[in-house]
Amino acid sequence: MLIGIPRETAPGETRVAATPETVKKYIAAKHTVLVERDAGLAARYTNEAYEQAGAQLVDTAQALGAELVLKVRAPSQGELPAMKSGAALVGMLDPFNAEGLAALAQAGLTSFALEAAPRTTRAQSLDVLSSQANLAGYKAVLLAANHYGRLLPMMMTAAGTLKAARVVVLGTGVAGLQAIATARRLGAVVEASDVRPAAKEQVESLGAKFIDVPFETDEEREIAQGVGGYARPMPAAWMARQAVLVSERCKQADIVISTALIPGRPAPTLISEETVQGMKPGSVIVDLAVERGGNCPLSEKDKIVEKHGVTLVGLSNLPALLATDASALYARNVLDFLKLITDADGKLAIRQDDDIVAACLVTADGKVTRSA
Ligand code: NAD
Repeated sequence: MLIGIPRETAPGETRVAATPETVKKYIAAKHTVLVERDAGLAARYTNEAYEQAGAQLVDTAQALGAELVLKVRAPSQGELPAMKSGAALVGMLDPFNAEGLAALAQAGLTSFALEAAPRTTRAQSLDVLSSQANLAGYKAVLLAANHYGRLLPMMMTAAGTLKAARVVVLGTGVAGLQAIATARRLGAVVEASDVRPAAKEQVESLGAKFIDVPFETDEEREIAQGVGGYARPMPAAWMARQAVLVSERCKQADIVISTALIPGRPAPTLISEETVQGMKPGSVIVDLAVERGGNCPLSEKDKIVEKHGVTLVGLSNLPALLATDASALYARNVLDFLKLITDADGKLAIRQDDDIVAACLVTADGKVTRSA
């Protein structure tokens, strides 16, 4: 098959959907790979490395005009006209964006949104949400440490002892757990909150304290279990009790990393303006949920701002700040997904009875096949 790897054009996007390592594997599987010239440069993968792996360097139109196009982000309105009707597209296509999916369907593309893969053991090797969120959680702590004018570990010096920083992590999915692990490695004292009861054990196994918000009704307990591992919106009474505890913990904290999300919905508000006002001067909030409106109403997308003496980091694409590793993991996720949609001759073969393929298929035959 003719596989195209265009250069990503979304602002701030530095990742690339195939690396020389995965290109080599596509070539070994008898595919022809067209890499847009400079597609990997922002992630430090050179044109020469792609050529040595067996790819042909081409222009934008040739890469977008392939039979199968591998992308990081959904193609823009400017890119879609260069894509061939009937071609296949694999990427992080934002499956909850109905308008975006309609545009892909209208362009006649058979598209697969990798974020829609189930969170099952079999899907782990192609789980882009996990591979990218893991890096985001790590980078969030490093950014916080950079913007925090003090140390994270306790330090005993001849000039006196400095206390360890207190870090609060809100939402302990993949990003939150990595943030806890990273903050712990840097010597911080960490506390964390999540709605899912299963999170408690994971938080404690990383050496952090779980901020327990007890359930008062069977309904609360049932909703908190979530669906497919994902959280559901909690009843207002539970959210109000959580808000009191979270506000208290944030006011004691030096750094807050918030990652709480509910699929397909705006991010829950967990850090109110009143809480920010009560935080210590010089403390830092990194709001990883900013793309979905943020866990703190004061954070601003793709900006670092200071409000009430608190630095709010609202950068929405932290994996792009680790472009080499983020691309390496993403490219391997894509490679593993392609094994599910190609046959032994390397032709596209969509097995609708495969739960991963069926979940990721978002447009086919000019139609959106999934309700956003
Ligand atoms: P996510 O990005 O959708 O959400 C982040 C976290 O926010 C979740 O832990 C969620 O429970 C939490 N959250 C939502 N509302 C909250 C609130 N009001 N207060 C505090 N926290 C709140 O999550 P994710 O990282 O994509 O992980 C989703 C699930 O998938 C998790 O259960 C995770 O363990 C599971 N998972 C499974 C596999 C696998 O088995 N292959 C792989 C990765 C993740």
